[in-house]
Amino acid sequence: MHALIKRLDRLCHPFPGTHALGVAASAVALIIGLAWPTEGPATVNQNAATHSALPLNTLTPEPRQPKPAEPAFRVVRETVKSGDTLSSLFQRQALTAQDLIRVTANEGKKRPLSLLKVGQSVEFRYADDVLVELAVVQTPFHHTVAASDESGQWTIEERHRDPEVYIEHASGVIDSSLFLAGAKAGLPDNLIMEMANIYGNVIDFVYEIRQGDRFIVTFEKRYLDGEFIEYGNILAAEFINNKESFFAIRYTDSEGDTGYFDGQGVSLRKAFLRAPLNFRRISSNFNLARKHPVLGITRAHRGTDYAASTGTPVYAAGDGKVVFRGKKGWYGNLVTIRHGNGIETRYAHLSKFGRYGVGSRVKQGQVIGYVGATGLVTGPHLHYEFLVNGVHRNPRTILDKLPKAKTLPATEMARFAQVAEPLIASIEAQKNNAELALQTTGR
Ligand SMILES: [Zn+2]
Repeated sequence: MHALIKRLDRLCHPFPGTHALGVAASAVALIIGLAWPTEGPATVNQNAATHSALPLNTLTPEPRQPKPAEPAFRVVRETVKSGDTLSSLFQRQALTAQDLIRVTANEGKKRPLSLLKVGQSVEFRYADDVLVELAVVQTPFHHTVAASDESGQWTIEERHRDPEVYIEHASGVIDSSLFLAGAKAGLPDNLIMEMANIYGNVIDFVYEIRQGDRFIVTFEKRYLDGEFIEYGNILAAEFINNKESFFAIRYTDSEGDTGYFDGQGVSLRKAFLRAPLNFRRISSNFNLARKHPVLGITRAHRGTDYAASTGTPVYAAGDGKVVFRGKKGWYGNLVTIRHGNGIETRYAHLSKFGRYGVGSRVKQGQVIGYVGATGLVTGPHLHYEFLVNGVHRNPRTILDKLPKAKTLPATEMARFAQVAEPLIASIEAQKNNAELALQTTGR
């Protein structure tokens, strides 16, 4: 009887430890709440905290069924600490070595139960004080579960659940920095960082960003049983920089490669990053940029200075080969990378080098050093130079000479349009709402 109930329960509830009637009920309430966003300009916050969410109809969960009698699992959750093994968790649970052998007997070569990571959760599920299930939480959506039948045989299975995915929009106006505007819009740091990465080849978030720049971003939120689990992908965004609009549409092509493209299917991945460092660490410098709207080049030393704290990672601006790494006069610690088309980039005043030595090939975004104050400087900053055929150039003004960004092939365009059009339309709708709100509040 016990086995039958358990099997029924497993069919209805792949993760027995996580359900409760209350959770199911609140899930329904939440779904209704999200599915019926309040509409109309009067309710749209002009600073645009996240608002209006639409469920992906394909992923909307079915109405919950009344549940059969619940097996009385007692669940004890252990968190894997440094040095822990499954064996030490068993000891903490006062289980024996024989128990461990029985549970893991059929584990197989991949050892999904025994190979634990620090921070991971492991659930011990007891029925009448007898261990009947062991679940290793790989992700909230994937558990490896060992379960015993009545005869004490243990079997292991991978249980997967699909998250309930909701799509939300957020928008904001830059007042002092992208991070502050993003935070004001209710976005978590990692999503703002992701947005900065998506636009990292198109907009220099230090020198090109302006007060009054705006963004709208469409992103996923993933739930399980009505409980928010994590933010998902950015599906689309529009960034309006100095009145110029930059769309970003997430698209996975028929080969399975995912990237971000503008409305015409041109990749936002360009040959060079606009600012070769994590701009998060320099956002405090925004005021300086605002005072000098066309900054970028300081003639005195032919390069762009990015003030940032010592230790800030410096990225290779593009794919290339390290041709110099060492001390050089007023540059202090310098890395020089040679790229194709006669282009060379230099990174000076570094406190430390990355792991790429002279002759190493580097890919865009790899850490080639860390901001410092070596050489002739008054404070820590990155001095960045961009040279074409030995001549210093402002990377922003020579875009035409750079290798052309990848455009989706004609064979992908119809499929791309199917993805892009509704996303762009929904962003436009959001924008109109926000503009109406601005007008009604008289801003
Ligand atoms: Zn400089």
